[in-house]
Amino acid sequence: MAKIGSGNSTWAFKLGDGNNYSLKKMTTFIDSIIVERSYVGDKTLRNNLVPLKIGIFVWRVLKERIAVKLELVKRGVNLASLLCPICNKEVESTSHALITCEYAKDVWSRIHNWWSLNFIPSINIESLLKDPNCNTLPRSLQKTWQAISWTTAYFIWKNRNQKFFNNDSWSTAKLTCDIQVKSFEWIMNRSSKINKDWLQWLLNSINLGAPNVNNLDPG
Ligand SMILES: [Zn+2]
Repeated sequence: MAKIGSGNSTWAFKLGDGNNYSLKKMTTFIDSIIVERSYVGDKTLRNNLVPLKIGIFVWRVLKERIAVKLELVKRGVNLASLLCPICNKEVESTSHALITCEYAKDVWSRIHNWWSLNFIPSINIESLLKDPNCNTLPRSLQKTWQAISWTTAYFIWKNRNQKFFNNDSWSTAKLTCDIQVKSFEWIMNRSSKINKDWLQWLLNSINLGAPNVNNLDPG
């Protein structure tokens, strides 16, 4: 346990198991505070239809700060292989893991099909997450679609970690279904005015949205 000061001004370190001080946990804790403050200060990247952790994840992605193998090696970590743990064919960069890997491409295609949109695999990650389909969707739907895009990237990364750490992976069909369920839950819970019809959401969210999403809080 790390203690500073005395009497009423004592600090106790409580992040480690059994109050044991852990430099790694302290560093992670401080890093999480810095990241959260930086993210909240970045007004270009807000979407109140998803939880804060999803916005922070996207912020990390755009700052090249998720732990893909290429970024780890750049920071001095020794790895036996740079290959993507999902396809084992290409170097794992941020854009490979989240867009150009066959697995990621299939998930994005399914999510785009759901919204009757074309997925272009050569799109860069900033366009995909910052202004997704801003030229093809009405303004009233762009924030909802962005929330779905962010959820999709988060779930693709979740599957990558499941494979990397547990040697397990979900099918792209299952992951797509999970994204539809979770984005519905998150968006509906954060909007008081949108039509909360699951079947409509699942079958045709474009038509579902137009009159209702218009009423969403723009903040
Ligand atoms: Zn891959």
